[in-house]
Amino acid sequence: MPNAVPLLDFSREYRVHREEILAALELVADSQKFILGPEVDRFEAAAAEALQAKYAIGCASGTDALWLALAAAGVGPGDEVITTPFSFFASTSAILRAGATPVFADIDPVTFNLSAAAAEAAITPGTRAVLPVHLYGQPVDWDHLQQVADRHKLLLVEDAAQAWGARWKDTPAGALGISAAFSFYPTKNLAAMGDAGLVSTNDPAVADRARALRTHGMRKRYFHDEVGWNARLDSFQAAVLNVRLKYVNEGNAERAQIAENYLHLFQQADLIGTVTLPETLSHAHSAWHQYVIRAPRRDDLRAHLTNHQIGTEIYYPLPIHLQPALEYLGYKHGSLPHTEQAAHEVLALPIFPGLRLEEQELVVQRIAEFYR
Ligand SMILES: *Cc1c(COP(=O)(O)O)cnc(C)c1O
Repeated sequence: MPNAVPLLDFSREYRVHREEILAALELVADSQKFILGPEVDRFEAAAAEALQAKYAIGCASGTDALWLALAAAGVGPGDEVITTPFSFFASTSAILRAGATPVFADIDPVTFNLSAAAAEAAITPGTRAVLPVHLYGQPVDWDHLQQVADRHKLLLVEDAAQAWGARWKDTPAGALGISAAFSFYPTKNLAAMGDAGLVSTNDPAVADRARALRTHGMRKRYFHDEVGWNARLDSFQAAVLNVRLKYVNEGNAERAQIAENYLHLFQQADLIGTVTLPETLSHAHSAWHQYVIRAPRRDDLRAHLTNHQIGTEIYYPLPIHLQPALEYLGYKHGSLPHTEQAAHEVLALPIFPGLRLEEQELVVQRIAEFYR
């Protein structure tokens, strides 16, 4: 029986693919092609195929991908974009970076994702787009969101940073909206060894514009059609991603198995009803980026687990609408109650490829001790 469980230990996966990754990096070094180039082309083609999207554009980070996905779809100054306040800050900061105004709507307390009904209620004549986040790897209820978007003629731009491998019905996250953003930050399901991201789209005009914006709005060298930015993907990261793309489905299957194990372990420990386990909608296939429970006396539970060397994390302790940087938007405590309650109750447990069943047993045993 182990006596400690890390929240994340990617070195286990790394050890398995170490030789292949190092060989790929060596090829890039020898090629002396470091920015974009053949490794990036190869990754974009493979990524588009995996996502069942016509176009994939590699870029420097998930944050850049969000900005590109919005700007290339035509979102800009004067536009309002409805989004979830329960996400990583970049979902919102990218809207501001595109020159638009974020408008927050509350989450569905079951899935933690943006509620389609709340999004619809937040629509004004200035609304241009909705930016949902597939939080923790579970795709948002796309049928309802699509109905809202169709009724009001809005663009849907996906934050799929946590959702590589997720599907709504048969459509992968990343091929649902007009455009989508992925992050390959080292803790994501598909992980680079540094910063990297990707925009996917089925729209040729959006793809062309994202590609241009990624390199300072250049289509022809040193001729700038509009003001873009340097948001390029480097070849070392693409080489790592080309290796890991081959194994990401395996890793995601392992994550799904880990989620199933937790369900059984919590049932056996008679903890259902004390803690609330994650729920997946019937049309949603989750990528299980995180395994997040709701726990009464969450902070005390977390301290207990920390004392027993069980890694946990809170995604996210302060909702975006209450962040100091966005005080000027005027949102108050109590304005988005489901989000604020979730921020007090959520706790992420260890989930990563290579996590062992005995380790999961220890996590649940320690939680059972706390509530006994
Ligand atoms: C990781 C993440 C991002 C940002 O990605 P970076 O690659 O770190 O810039 C954006 N949105 C969500 C939901 C994320 O989890």
